Amino acid sequence: MYPDFEPDGGRPPRRPSTGMHLFRNLLLVAIAAVVALLVSGFLRGDPRITSLFPALPGATRESPATNTRPGTAGTAAPGGTKEQDDDAPPPGLEEAGQPLLTPVKPAEENSSYKFLATNADGTPVGYSPCRPVHYVVNAELAPAGSEGLLEDAVAKISAATGLKFINDGTTKEKPSEKREAYQPALYGDRWAPLLLSWTTPETSPALAGKVIGTGGSTAYSFGGGPRSYVSGRLDLDTPQITELLALPGGADYVSAVMQHELGHVVGLDHVDDPVQLMYPEIGAPDGLAAGDLTGLYKLHSAPCRDDL
Ligand SMILES: [Zn+2]
Repeated sequence: MYPDFEPDGGRPPRRPSTGMHLFRNLLLVAIAAVVALLVSGFLRGDPRITSLFPALPGATRESPATNTRPGTAGTAAPGGTKEQDDDAPPPGLEEAGQPLLTPVKPAEENSSYKFLATNADGTPVGYSPCRPVHYVVNAELAPAGSEGLLEDAVAKISAATGLKFINDGTTKEKPSEKREAYQPALYGDRWAPLLLSWTTPETSPALAGKVIGTGGSTAYSFGGGPRSYVSGRLDLDTPQITELLALPGGADYVSAVMQHELGHVVGLDHVDDPVQLMYPEIGAPDGLAAGDLTGLYKLHSAPCRDDL
């Protein structure tokens, strides 16, 4: 058994707004999850899963009170007027009138999937399919032999979800549990891109022990309305993955880890079914299974958001 983990320390108090504008009432939800791997089972070539990972109570946290601004009473700005916030970019950047891509429909529908969060209307919390999901990679510690694996995993998740990903290149930004979803000084006047990092347990303490990767996203909503993800991060344990890549079949295993973590980033939770890649431990790197693919496909029903 491996410990669960609480990845997000919450956001610092927000500065009071000084403008004359209508205020946004924001609700921020930070979500993250983790995969722990039975590396020993892989080393033996034993595909069996030998222990169950506990469910993830508390993996989703909401802080409905912390982001209420002066002048609001828990409602959206009247008239639908959108004003730029001091910690959010102008709304609707790159948002198209319809989803950018069509996801690949799974050959077989399978109920073995779970969303990290759903909105009141039952739709999953996800990224808007009407705009691209940008990402940057901190590759300073990328191990030899990992070339192309991350891009390939992103392509698989893109095909399954219909989310269009854009690689914005490399970054020197370090992963942090307090990473802000909006960093105009670093990334301009837009939501910060996903941060995909090759890192170590020293920098990313959630990777301690047998945990080999973590992934999650930050969601926004207005006045208790539907939530959507706006940014996120994925941390990969370079020391452990370096060892895995040296083994026969190791690259497939690492790819499975990446797809699992990207599954969290786009909105999937763990399931109790060892056949699925969203099982909390990866026994055999068989790739996305029917339940994973069904869940990823349904994430395409997350709403488009020209208000974010
Ligand atoms: Zn996981």
